[in-house]
Amino acid sequence: MRTTVKKDDCIGCGMCAELCPEVFEIGADGYSDAVGNPDVCPDKVQEAAEVCPTNAIEVQR
Ligand code: SF4
Repeated sequence: MRTTVKKDDCIGCGMCAELCPEVFEIGADGYSDAVGNPDVCPDKVQEAAEVCPTNAIEVQR
């Protein structure tokens, strides 16, 4: 599984990092980055992609 955050679309709301801190982290720029291994918690990564208000999270299985 791979996941990326489209920086141009992220608004830095923090929901993904709250839901799945193993993978998503709000960086110094105030926007999310996918820094962890999504295979650790694929269901939570999928959920984060679904709840992201701007659909900024891409998931490839
Ligand atoms: S949930 Fe979406 S908009 Fe919010 S911080 Fe994460 S990637 Fe950005």
